[in-house]
Amino acid sequence: MDIKIKENLKKIFGFNQFRGNQEAIVDNILQGNNTFVIMPTGAGKSLCYQLPAVTKEGAAIVISPLIALMKNQVDQLNAFGINAHFLNSTLSKTETNRVKKEVLSGATKLLYVAPESLTKEENVTFLKSAQLSFVAIDEAHCISEWGHDFRPEYRKIKSIIGQIGDSLPIIALTATATPKVQQDIQRNLNMEEADLFKSSFNRTNLFYEVKPKAKSDTKKHLIKYVKSQKGKSGIIYCLSRKKVEEIAGLLKVNGINAAPYHAGLESAMRIKNQDDFLNEEVDVVVATIAFGMGIDKPDVRYVIHYDVPKSLEGYYQETGRAGRDGLDGHCLMFYKYEDIVKLEKFNKDKPVNERENAKVLLQEMAAYAESSVCRRRVLLHYFGESLNEDCGFCDNCKKKRDSFDAKEDILTAIEAVKETHQRFSLDHIVNVIRGEQNEYMESYNHDGLSVFGKGQEDSERYWRSVIRQTMIHGLLEKDIENYGVIKLSKASEDFLKSPHEITFTKDHDFEEMIENDEAE
Ligand code: ADP
Ligand code: ZN
Repeated sequence: MDIKIKENLKKIFGFNQFRGNQEAIVDNILQGNNTFVIMPTGAGKSLCYQLPAVTKEGAAIVISPLIALMKNQVDQLNAFGINAHFLNSTLSKTETNRVKKEVLSGATKLLYVAPESLTKEENVTFLKSAQLSFVAIDEAHCISEWGHDFRPEYRKIKSIIGQIGDSLPIIALTATATPKVQQDIQRNLNMEEADLFKSSFNRTNLFYEVKPKAKSDTKKHLIKYVKSQKGKSGIIYCLSRKKVEEIAGLLKVNGINAAPYHAGLESAMRIKNQDDFLNEEVDVVVATIAFGMGIDKPDVRYVIHYDVPKSLEGYYQETGRAGRDGLDGHCLMFYKYEDIVKLEKFNKDKPVNERENAKVLLQEMAAYAESSVCRRRVLLHYFGESLNEDCGFCDNCKKKRDSFDAKEDILTAIEAVKETHQRFSLDHIVNVIRGEQNEYMESYNHDGLSVFGKGQEDSERYWRSVIRQTMIHGLLEKDIENYGVIKLSKASEDFLKSPHEITFTKDHDFEEMIENDEAE
């Protein structure tokens, strides 16, 4: 690496060293290669494109969906002495013209652009005439319908870049990407050959826990918990503004220093509550997911999900705000299946496609909550990483669970997938194993398979759990091309040839736990 780069890291940004993959990424961008960065929030993605932007001739375009944060980012860069600007709908005509003039003069190093602004004809014309170094696409998961934050305008980015300058290097960055989303991003940007830099998603200092959400008990439990954390910073996420107000009020009457945060509050109030939290005048913020983006408070000690999030991506992002300083953080979620059903209903007005995808994301969320497998293993598996051992630092690892030798069940699951020619989703595979007669079975002749009805003694729930755990162990896998379809993995055949003992655990029965709780 160029000595000058290290010098700039220190001189301009004030950092002594690169973190994780940063150096290799910066180097790759400087060489003009397409680059794909998957790195958890807080790991330092911005520097990866900011540093090369400063070094290269011309302006780097940074596409970001978060208009509210653009000004902040640009102010920060200006404070470092870097010439940076943004173009979005908040600028007046005069301001826009001033920015454009500055870019054309060659002085600007970074130009942040909202995707809506990028697609405007006049801006495309302007960018064509500017000298540009590369294009950075932040929050690149917004390209994929399979992500948790799909933005249709993101689909147009590639063709616009094509108009502006076909040979411009592209760097895509995101903090969450399942293997499916990763593939979508690369296809959509036509950068399948890009160099991939993927950091681990394992946040070893976070303790994950899920508790049943009973009507009577949860609030008491919440108050008791937050009181026990007095003086420490925490965030409590709720689904609705109404719930946020209710819970914040409840905590306050119980003598807890809490403040609400949601998009329905006046902006002065939002800013005050956020500042109070950052300055530690307030211990806990009760918030909708509007809270937290771009907020970097290192010593958040706990994140509570009072309501279940819409996806595991969201859950990972939100829990990820705990323990940024590397010290322990507690991630506690209250769960009941009814909340999943409620969320499904919210999706009913979406286009069919989006609704179906949202449903799958919700089902993954429910499966995580109800699973008694090491939470970290489930989470990491979701993001395409594998952990070969239980982590020892989550509720499921700490508790004694109902376990059993799953050798025979795994064989049955693999056979079912194999005999149906790797073309079906979880639901159908479970039906085959349980011997459910329906029109599908007949039309595919699956009722004649030797595996049909082999597992009729056990419930649907049981088999779903078995198949999910089989996937976590890599003995079956999701087909990325045909999402939802389960196929054999490399390890499946080996297991069929030489099966061995593997311990699985029985899912939590939250319905029963909640009933017991309420009976107490
Ligand atoms: P991300 O975009 O991945 O969420 P940021 O780019 O906002 O993360 O960086 C998170 C924090 O880490 C910021 O406060 C940033 O200043 C800091 N940071 C980034 N790179 C370094 C480094 N090499 N050394 C020290 N701190 C760094
Ligand atoms: Zn664990």
